[in-house]
Amino acid sequence: MMKEDKKEHTEAARILLVDDESVIRETLCLILKEEGYAVTTAKTGAEAIALAKEGFFDVAVIDLKLPDMEGTYVLHNIKESNPAICAILITAYPTTESAIRAIQEEAYEYITKPFDISHVKLVIKRGIEEKRLEHENRILLVSLKSEKEKLETILQIGHAMSSILNLDELAKFIVDKIIDVLKAKICSLMLLENGGEEEVLKIKAAVGLDELVIKTTSIKPGQSISGWVVKSGEPVLVTDIENDLKFGRANLPKYETKSLLCIPLKVKEKVLGVINVTDKTIPGQENIFTEEDRRFLGIISSYAAIAIENAQLYGEVKNLAVTDGLTGLFNHRYFQTHLTAEVTRVQRYPRPLSLIMFDIDSFKEFNDTYGHPMGDIVLNQVARAIKINVRKVDIACRYGGEEFAVILPETKLKDSILVAEKIRKAVAAANFETGRGGSSRKKMTISGGVAQFASGMKKEDLVRCADEALYKAKTGGKNQICVYSS
Ligand code: GH3
Ligand code: MG
Ligand code: MG
Repeated sequence: MMKEDKKEHTEAARILLVDDESVIRETLCLILKEEGYAVTTAKTGAEAIALAKEGFFDVAVIDLKLPDMEGTYVLHNIKESNPAICAILITAYPTTESAIRAIQEEAYEYITKPFDISHVKLVIKRGIEEKRLEHENRILLVSLKSEKEKLETILQIGHAMSSILNLDELAKFIVDKIIDVLKAKICSLMLLENGGEEEVLKIKAAVGLDELVIKTTSIKPGQSISGWVVKSGEPVLVTDIENDLKFGRANLPKYETKSLLCIPLKVKEKVLGVINVTDKTIPGQENIFTEEDRRFLGIISSYAAIAIENAQLYGEVKNLAVTDGLTGLFNHRYFQTHLTAEVTRVQRYPRPLSLIMFDIDSFKEFNDTYGHPMGDIVLNQVARAIKINVRKVDIACRYGGEEFAVILPETKLKDSILVAEKIRKAVAAANFETGRGGSSRKKMTISGGVAQFASGMKKEDLVRCADEALYKAKTGGKNQICVYSS
C-alpha cells in the first residue's frame, strides 16, 4: 500500500517546491502558502529527494535545470517512494527532448518560464483534485474487488456444499478459501468429536499451524476462546487479545498480530465446531479484523456448517454400508469387494497377498449354554483381538456368523501365520463373560486357516484354500492355525 492511503484528504495538500532560483522559490512559496497549502522548499535535487524520502507530498513543483541534476531525474527518484505524486515541471529552456522526458516520467504538467502565477495556481488545484479522484477510485476499486472475491467465495462454498462429500477435503477447501479472502495467515476449522466420554474440539483442517499442533490440540467446550464459542454459539471478534475484557491474555508467540475471529459452525441450533482466523496480514495496514470480516465469516460458516453436516452424515451412511454393526469390523460385502480389488492388483503386479480365516471353536455350545447375548459379547471380544493384532493396511472382516477373515496385502505366508498365531493365542489367553457371576468365566478358542495367493489363482481359489486350511485345523483338534498346502 502506498504512503498516500494513510493520509487524510481533509488536511492541507502538501507541496514540495524545488528551484535553485531563490526569487522564484520564495515568491511561489509565499503565494502557495496564502492559498492554504503546506509548502516545503528545496534548493537542489539531492535536498528534494531526501525530503521526499522522509515525508509525503501531494504535489511536487520542480525546476528542470537544477545545479546538481536534471529535474526529471529528481522526479524519477521521488516517484519510487510516492508513485502517485502530482508533478509539475517548470523550465526556462523548453526543448523537445526535455518535454519527452517529462512525459516519460509521467509529469502532470510542463510549464515554461516566465509563467503566469494564476496559471500555476490553477494547474496545482486541478492536479490535486484529479489525484484525489484517482485515489478515491483506487480505493473504491479495491473494495469492489474484495466484495467480488467474497461473493465468489460464498458461491463456491455453496457449490462445494453439494459436491464435496469427503469431510477432510471439504474442511481443507473451506480453510483455504477463508485464508484467501480474509488475507489471514492462520486459519483452523475445528469439529466436535467424541473423544472417549466427553466431546472435544479437534482440528479437522488448518493453514499456518504445525502438524504437531494440528494433531494434538484438543479443547473442551467452555475452555479457551474456541471452547467458549462452541458453548455459547456466539461469534467472537477480538481486536487486541492483550487488552480484551473477556479473553485478555498475553499474545501467544505463534501469532504475529493480536486480533482474531472465532465463529461457530451452527446448523439450526446445533453447534458442530468453530472456525478460527488469526494473523490478518495486509501489508501497510493495521491488521485488525473488522465487523465486515466477522459478517463475511458468519455467512461462510453458515454455509460451511450445512456442508459439513452433509459430509458427516454421508460418512456415517457410507460406514454403515461397509461395517458390521455388532463387531465394527468390515462386513462380508466389503470383504468381497476389497478382496476382488487386491486379487486384481496382484494378478497384474505380482506382490505377496495372504488371507486368514478364523472360526470360533464350539461356539454353538457356548450359545446354547449361556445364551445369544453372551455369545455376542464373545464375538465382539474376538473381533477386538483381531483388530488390535493386525496392521492398519490389513482388512479385518466379519465373514459370517462366527467366522472372521483378514486380508493381508504385501504379506507372505510366513508372516501371516505369525499374525494368525498371535490372534489365536490372545483369544486362548482371554476369559469370557458368561453372565453367571464374576467368577464364572469361560475359556474360548478359535481355529484359523492361512493361504497365500499363487499365480493363476482366482479370488474364489484363495478363499477356498484358506477355508480348507481352516477345516484342517478343526479336524486336527481345534485351537490351532493350519496352512494350505496344495
Ligand atoms: P466348530 O468348533 O466346529 O466351529 O463348532 P461351532 O459350534 O462353533 O460351529 P457351528 O457352525 O455348529 O455353530 C456356529 C454357531 O454360531 C451357530 C450360532 O448359534 C452361532 N452364531 C452365529 N452367528 C451368531 C451371532 O451373531 N451371535 C451369536 N451369539 N451367535 C451366533
Ligand atoms: Mg462356523
Ligand atoms: Mg465354530
